[in-house]
Amino acid sequence: MSKVWILVADDMSAAHVADVASKSGAPYEALVFGDASRADAVAALGPASVTLYDTSATLAEALAPAIADRAAQEQPAAVLCSDDATARAIAGAIAVKLSAAVAAAVTSVSVSEGKTVVERLVADAAAVQVLETSGPAVCIVADGGDEADAGAAAEVATGSASALDSLTVLATNCDGCASNGLLTAEKVVGVGLGIGAKENLALVEELAAALGAEVACTLPLCDNYHWFEHDRVVGTSTQKISPRLYLTLGSSGAPQHMTGVRGAKVIVAVNNDSEASIFRECAYGIVGDVKEIIPVLTAAIKGA
Ligand SMILES: Cc1cc2nc3c(=O)[nH]c(=O)nc-3n(C[C@H](O)[C@H](O)[C@H](O)COP(=O)(O)OP(=O)(O)OC[C@H]3O[C@@H](n4cnc5c(N)ncnc54)[C@H](O)[C@@H]3O)c2cc1C
Repeated sequence: MSKVWILVADDMSAAHVADVASKSGAPYEALVFGDASRADAVAALGPASVTLYDTSATLAEALAPAIADRAAQEQPAAVLCSDDATARAIAGAIAVKLSAAVAAAVTSVSVSEGKTVVERLVADAAAVQVLETSGPAVCIVADGGDEADAGAAAEVATGSASALDSLTVLATNCDGCASNGLLTAEKVVGVGLGIGAKENLALVEELAAALGAEVACTLPLCDNYHWFEHDRVVGTSTQKISPRLYLTLGSSGAPQHMTGVRGAKVIVAVNNDSEASIFRECAYGIVGDVKEIIPVLTAAIKGA
């Protein structure tokens, strides 16, 4: 019988990837890279089985060829993972080994009768494209969306896979990365070019302080204007966040930025252009000038 694999190499998106897999129509098995607590969390989501590959002494990426060999033996119909660097590397090795079709920004996978149908976001998430393959599919699941409910807890088996000995970590340079609390913040206020001028950042800081939120920004505010350090930028080129609330002020909703924030539970946007693509991504939107809206929000929060 056809089966689906999920690859889990971080704690952020396992429940969402499991949700997509659980709706595929085929039983899904989880391959977890990390430690026992991550494997236990995934097991509680109700997969058919969990294999833990302990990465305390090796890079998960070094296991990729061995995992691809396992895929060649077991022939999963589809392999799903989140859009994180480690899972993508392993998924890539599997795709090559299986000569699989590869799709990114995937929102749904359906496996039946030797065919796999995949839905993925295109056109800045304005449209959904439907693909069908009669062979294996490797799917990078789009961030955000539903999370699998807890199911019958699966047994966790310990996987053994020989690691590439040609891959060595020389150094991990992490100056400033995540030291500001952005990665773990429950609330984040994001600021984009629509803020207009550096002096307006004081409005943002005041709002963030009232809300008890960290401040993030879009790439141009760091790279072009140098108003923020790089560790405040969120998106493709930098870091992904998954706060309960992401309040974004004067950003257009460019895909490279949104990739970093789709893990947020609720996105609220302020933009003066009612056609801005951010309004297709947010739960709540306010059309207006950030310089007028921010003080109103701050006063309302302080008065609450
Ligand atoms: C390879 C690559 C990687 C990238 N990686 C990243 C990344 O990791 N993170 C990232 O953020 N970007 C990244 N970018 C850049 C990205 O493509 C966008 O250019 C950027 O995110 C846009 O930033 P923005 O939304 O602040 O600006 P804009 O797209 O210019 O949007 C500004 C918005 O503000 C609104 N606005 C203007 N004035 C006001 C006002 N007074 N009140 C309210 N709203 C107003 C406008 O309507 C507009 O929608 C990358 C680009 C490339 C090519």
